[in-house]
Amino acid sequence: MFDKILIANRGEIALRVIRACREMGIASVAVHSTADADAMHVRMADESICIGPPPSPQSYLSIPSIIAACEVTGAQAIHPGYGFLSENANFVQVIEDHGLTFIGPTAEHIRIMGDKITAKDTMIKLGVPCVPGSEGGVPDLATAKKLGQEMGYPVIIKATAGGGGKGMKVANSDKEMEKAFMTARAEGKANFGNDEVYIEKYLQKPRHIEIQVFGDGKGTAVHLAERDCSLQRRHQKVFEEAPGPSITPEERARIGKICAEAMANINYIGAGTIEFLYEDGEFYFIEMNTRLQVEHPVTEGIFGVDLVREQIRVAEGLPMSFTQDELEINGHAIEVRINAEKLPNFSPCPGRITQYHAPGGLGVRMDSALYDGYSIPPYYDSLIGKLIVHGRDRKEALARLHRALGELIVDGVDTTIPLFHELLQEPAILSGDYNIHWLEKWLARNL
Ligand code: ADP
Repeated sequence: MFDKILIANRGEIALRVIRACREMGIASVAVHSTADADAMHVRMADESICIGPPPSPQSYLSIPSIIAACEVTGAQAIHPGYGFLSENANFVQVIEDHGLTFIGPTAEHIRIMGDKITAKDTMIKLGVPCVPGSEGGVPDLATAKKLGQEMGYPVIIKATAGGGGKGMKVANSDKEMEKAFMTARAEGKANFGNDEVYIEKYLQKPRHIEIQVFGDGKGTAVHLAERDCSLQRRHQKVFEEAPGPSITPEERARIGKICAEAMANINYIGAGTIEFLYEDGEFYFIEMNTRLQVEHPVTEGIFGVDLVREQIRVAEGLPMSFTQDELEINGHAIEVRINAEKLPNFSPCPGRITQYHAPGGLGVRMDSALYDGYSIPPYYDSLIGKLIVHGRDRKEALARLHRALGELIVDGVDTTIPLFHELLQEPAILSGDYNIHWLEKWLARNL
């Protein structure tokens, strides 16, 4: 059993992990850069330690500094949160070499799923349906054009190492292929140090449906249904809900079973998300994330489970605290991402929070590291909070979201709160009839 866990992250997700630790009677260690000396995660943890200057490569991404912080504080395990080092196989290896425990999957699983071509190959072998596309990497432009013609345009060119919406370009014709191919390659190289790309059929009106999976690392795995994350801007999610408004219980059971069996087969440990595009009743795998996702609270909302607690338990070698049969969906949950961003360009808007008031009441959860007088530093991502609501059904969840957004006050910086006020007036949002292109089109018309 762990008695002290170090959290290699910041912001709301660091608080999320500290809270789980506290409920389990485990001490928490926060790490922080000099820019975050006054951050809430530092105040809330049992201990804190400075690991370097503001730029993340020298602090939150510095493996030696984080290992040193563990050794100094005597923490036995590291929770990586999401982003930063959460999907870095080398980090996991170094942690294990130091006799510490990584709270997450094995280095091998992270490596396999972190390379999208290998991930797709693996999923095909495990019987998971995938988007039709190139077999492996596409070496040159001529091959790319040939594939585009064979598959039929439009196609999407994707960097195998890509993530966060980077390294993905759509081509509608041979003519567009040249630029799209070169740009995807260049973005892959610049952002992820790998210029290998592959090609997929570009689906016209899919929804983004992702299945939450969880394994004990010993051959038992379950699924916790789906989240619909179709409301996206630049391939980045802004609004997520569970269960998916378009998914039937039969479809859920079918794809859920495929995912859980695939994870059981590879002895997957901890939380993972298998992402699909869903169109005309078919699921097409696009990628797997081997970590806790930003939007995990909507799943926690409908199942009443604590996914971070489960992650810690299986990392300790304990069994999961639920079986597939015990997992039953209760109601509906929605999350909106509150970013410090200025519309219409969504440009980051760091600065001092002059007033912060979190909404409350039945079925409302606010995960945020904000407080009155806090200064959002300019060095990190712009997510400053997640408002999550739960209701007995989708209609009640939407009404509750509307009510809670009205209570939420974040003054001093621009945020995405006004965007959600407007979206909640839209018939397509109220009825759940939207796909991955809906928000971009709406933004082009309304901003
Ligand atoms: P990342 O790792 O950068 O998040 P993903 O592969 O998860 O990239 O894709 C992110 C988003 O890009 C998807 O949710 C979807 O909106 C869009 N996308 C990806 N692949 C396709 C495709 N084949 N057809 C249409 N849209 C796609």
